[in-house]
Amino acid sequence: MRVLRTGIPAAGIAAGTAFVLERRVSAAPSAAPGDPAAETARFHAALAQAKAELGVLAAENDIFAAHLEMADDPMLAEQVEERISEHGFSAERALDGACEEVCGMLAALDDEYLGGRTDDVRDVCGRIRRILTGETAENPFAGLAPGTIVVAEELTPSDTALMDFSRIAGVVTARGSVTSHVCIIARAKGIAAMVGATECMLEIKTGDKLIINGETGEIIVAPDTATERRYRALIASRERHGAHCLKGAHTPAVTRGGRRIAVLGNAGSVAEVRAALDAGAEGIGLFRSEFLYMQSRGGFPDEQTQFEAYRHAAELCGERPLVIRTLDIGGDKALPYMDFGHEENPFLGWRAIRVSLSMQDVFRTQLRALLRASVFGNLRIMFPMITSVGEFRRAEAAVRECMAELDAEKAAYNSGIELGVMIETPAAVMVADLLAAEARFFSIGTNDLTQYVMAADRGNPRVAHLCDPSDTAVRRSVAMTLAAARSAGIEAGMCGELAADPEATAWLLEAGLEKFSVSAPAVAPLKERIRTLDLPEVRKTPGAAE
Ligand code: PEP
Ligand code: MG
Repeated sequence: MRVLRTGIPAAGIAAGTAFVLERRVSAAPSAAPGDPAAETARFHAALAQAKAELGVLAAENDIFAAHLEMADDPMLAEQVEERISEHGFSAERALDGACEEVCGMLAALDDEYLGGRTDDVRDVCGRIRRILTGETAENPFAGLAPGTIVVAEELTPSDTALMDFSRIAGVVTARGSVTSHVCIIARAKGIAAMVGATECMLEIKTGDKLIINGETGEIIVAPDTATERRYRALIASRERHGAHCLKGAHTPAVTRGGRRIAVLGNAGSVAEVRAALDAGAEGIGLFRSEFLYMQSRGGFPDEQTQFEAYRHAAELCGERPLVIRTLDIGGDKALPYMDFGHEENPFLGWRAIRVSLSMQDVFRTQLRALLRASVFGNLRIMFPMITSVGEFRRAEAAVRECMAELDAEKAAYNSGIELGVMIETPAAVMVADLLAAEARFFSIGTNDLTQYVMAADRGNPRVAHLCDPSDTAVRRSVAMTLAAARSAGIEAGMCGELAADPEATAWLLEAGLEKFSVSAPAVAPLKERIRTLDLPEVRKTPGAAE
């Protein structure tokens, strides 16, 4: 038995048999290029077919919608055409060169988000190449036995589209991070994932028995009988608990003391809105609109594009609330088409509402789209990273001005739309009473609130021990916010990750939280956790929730 450590907790626990994916080395570029016009035509025919395939896949999964935009990006086609016409390359060779050029440009930007998109570019180019060479897209995952753990240098969204997840217990990759697609997909499919397992790769062979603990970042190769038995019992008890929770997914969560608690979902796309509602969410407490902007390749998404996405989400929710947060960009979230310049402390810099207030055209485009979509459901608007009443008033003024424009255009919108504030800065907590006098609702963003209250960057492993949302300082901030909302008679929910932590549920309820918003897989377990608690009373004193 060998225990390997990645140190990066990702998702879930699984026991199974390793299947190490060996990438077939791609065929050599076609040796005898035809004339440039014929090669260019061949490339365009393959590109068109790739786009048609991606169009079908995009209806099911937003990742392929992003791939479609990459395939549509004229830069890739221009790079290929240039190589064919200037160097007389075959379409395949020109595509390989263009792919590396585009990936090199993204990697050189020194931007974590864009750097992570090079895998997608390679995935798109691989699809076009397979069509060019006439390769039938053989499925390397076909015929896997149930309980397989796939081990690979990397797994692209196209790879995962070929997997039969009913047979896959987990995935282990050398590349990737907890925010990479493979992790997001694994969590959504409810399987275990380990990423960043660079040094473990050489140690694992196809057929090895494996246990992967995505909660601790440990991989156990060839576990001894006692270890395997212990893990299998642990996995079985998790599965029993999961199945039990799912039975109550669509029933309201009421504590044993009789308090009715709302459990909503977090989403970053229309597909995730659907997934959260299917998982039992009673509405959407946080729609992170920035993903629409991140997936848009040709610049800021226009009003109509945004309107359609928001309307779709609103229609899915119907009468259930849909809280859409305005663009929360900056910090660690970049946009490919926007220059943030160099900032010494991006998390303390130009991000979220600060960007929106200083880019009024961009802000108003979004507000107009949100207002127009507001007649299709129960849509509310929420502003991120507010630090003062003045900021809230300026955001609200922009909404009123957009309403006046829509009036002049005789366009419909909900004039009573509720405007709310993310409470995710210590400043907002300090002035929560003042904000509560003007905003219609609060949502506590504990992910940012924790890093700002504790002065500990949430991405820096050396201060990870300080970045603890259950620290007394954060608890007091939460309790103070809830008390301010209660005094003003406005609603306060929580959409940070703390809302999904079963160990925090009891004290959050004691502090008076009545609206939780969590990712889709956490909805049913959270409802079940609430049902086990016997909490009739809300403690009234701010700071008492310890
Ligand atoms: C938060 O900060 O808690 C939050 C929900 O927002 P995000 O994670 O998108 O910053
Ligand atoms: Mg935040």
